[in-house]
Amino acid sequence: MKLHYIGLLLFAIAYNNLFSQQLSTDIFKDELVNANGVINDQLLVMKTMENQYPGYSEQVSKVFQENKSRDNQSYNKNILHEVSVVVHVVHQTSEENLPDSVIYSQIEVLNEDFQRLNADSNNLRSIFMPIAGNPNIKFNLVQIIRVPTTSSFSVGLTGLPDNVKQTANGGSDAWNTDQYLNIWICKLESFFGALFGYAYPPAGLSNWPAGSQAPSPDLDGVVLDYRAVGRNNPNPFNNGAGGSFVINGRTATHEVGHYFGMRHIWGDGGGIFGGSSCGEDDGIIDTPNQGAQSNNNCDTTLNTCTDSVGVDLPDLIENHMDYSEETCKNMWTQMQSDFIRNVLENERVGLLNDNTGQHELTFDFQIYPNPANDLVHIFLPDGGGKLSVELKDINGKTIYLSSQIQPKSILDISKLNRGVYFIKVNVGNKFKIKKLLVK
Ligand SMILES: [Zn+2]
Repeated sequence: MKLHYIGLLLFAIAYNNLFSQQLSTDIFKDELVNANGVINDQLLVMKTMENQYPGYSEQVSKVFQENKSRDNQSYNKNILHEVSVVVHVVHQTSEENLPDSVIYSQIEVLNEDFQRLNADSNNLRSIFMPIAGNPNIKFNLVQIIRVPTTSSFSVGLTGLPDNVKQTANGGSDAWNTDQYLNIWICKLESFFGALFGYAYPPAGLSNWPAGSQAPSPDLDGVVLDYRAVGRNNPNPFNNGAGGSFVINGRTATHEVGHYFGMRHIWGDGGGIFGGSSCGEDDGIIDTPNQGAQSNNNCDTTLNTCTDSVGVDLPDLIENHMDYSEETCKNMWTQMQSDFIRNVLENERVGLLNDNTGQHELTFDFQIYPNPANDLVHIFLPDGGGKLSVELKDINGKTIYLSSQIQPKSILDISKLNRGVYFIKVNVGNKFKIKKLLVK
């Protein structure tokens, strides 16, 4: 079972209400039980959510109108938007301390999926080709932060393991979440199923119930289980049935989708108790109506709901917001792409502000030797604005800053402890970062 944020939230609340708190018989009114004695799980979930958060149902239906009006706006999708990414690897074991190559692979997958450059985009069934979209977003990895820990990151019925985002609680503090997409990688412990990852939508989106956003801004971002990262992950992710899940880096694509406000394609109504319900929607017009999640497979025969407009399309299992197997996910729809860009240009516009002023430069700089233990030569580009060089430790803390720098400069690192450092070169209001090993 593949659990993500909203499914987990609904499950947790339904569980609390049904099994641990007031199990009141008035929940089971006639409207919830059909002639065969079967409970309508969607109505049950909506009712339990309504009990917990009065106004929930009204808000869920209201938002879909909001989404639809967004869909009708036009955006200039020819402009490539760029987002700076900081990856935090919080690890207990050497396996959990993923090599750079796996993280690079993950960034590559994000860049392919969010620019429709993925090779498997050709596998999309032809009936859906006309609605395939391209959010046109590029992700620039600016830092990998590695933090050893003795803490564990457990998913409970009462909460999510946000301690991974807090240095004081055995995790790693976020870089400014207004300006950077922070991705934390750790081992996610769960006693009721595998959790691949989770993410919060931004605040202020009306297609999510009140309180869905991160509990505080410094806890915003994406969390991934270390086994679900990249296309070249050396660690198998046990599926509990003697085999392993197929991992192609698509968990991050899905979670970044949530981070940009996307909801599950089946609308989160059916599926939590294995049922199907066509009454909910993801709020996106061009996705077919779908009544339940896919079950981690590639079943192209699924058609859980009849579409009310035009041709009755099968379930869009190729969509990144389904729970299908990663090998068959390969697309966003056009209106999902519009929505994602709209959220990036509004609720998450700080990510773009950062990029308009500070993103990776087209020039390169060189450091030699690397690894080093004494003196490091830095060869910088000439011109282009005011130069400065920062030396940062593995936690991103600046330990040396010089603006009195020449195109060929020498940095004395003889007093530094062994380890990984970063040299950040600023030219004008732009920067580039390289890793330096001190031995
Ligand atoms: Zn999800």
